[in-house]
Amino acid sequence: MDRVSVLLANKWKWSLLDEAKRWGVQRIEECLSCGACVGSCPAARTSSYNFRKIIRDVMLGNEEKVLSSREIWYCFYCFYCTSKCPSMVEIPYFIMRLRRMAMERGYGGGILRVLALTSSNLLKHGVSVLPSDYDKMNPTGAEEAMVKLRKKLGLPPVMKVSEKALGELKTIFEETGFEGEVGKLLSGKGYFKEVSEKY
Ligand code: SF4
Ligand code: SF4
Repeated sequence: MDRVSVLLANKWKWSLLDEAKRWGVQRIEECLSCGACVGSCPAARTSSYNFRKIIRDVMLGNEEKVLSSREIWYCFYCFYCTSKCPSMVEIPYFIMRLRRMAMERGYGGGILRVLALTSSNLLKHGVSVLPSDYDKMNPTGAEEAMVKLRKKLGLPPVMKVSEKALGELKTIFEETGFEGEVGKLLSGKGYFKEVSEKY
């Protein structure tokens, strides 16, 4: 069980909050610590992800703990929490900024490499996960089972994305610099230290 402690306002540090505000993320310090976000979050149900604890560490100024943690990578931006939060804290947007800050400090490690692989599929095929990836992640014949199921449903083994749509995706990736970022991640240059379980 967590040790109970009193947070003194004069001990709080605002650097992560200031950075988030600079990027337009609002209302973070209005968190009531009610836990409604955690209770409604699908990622929290299956992992150690707990936004209430993250925000507490943000308020205390535990920057390295927050930015080096694995948990900030568990949110998948479904925005369900924002509909439950009584203070309308912009949780997913704040997580986006925390991730960017983490990357700028060299954190992200293995998680970013997995994201880079799925992004590379997106660049080449227009879909992020291919049937063959399932066997890499969990080699139990999942690829064969999926191809069989798709055949039964009258679908090709891999979802086909039209040349036109692929061309449009490529333009978006080039214009936003996404292609270059993925290339850097896959080549292992620049970032990243491994992340750790902290919560
Ligand atoms: S639901 Fe909102 S107010 Fe409640 S703990 Fe989560 S962020 Fe804070
Ligand atoms: S947006 Fe992220 S934090 Fe909010 S409910 Fe969805 S997974 Fe959880």
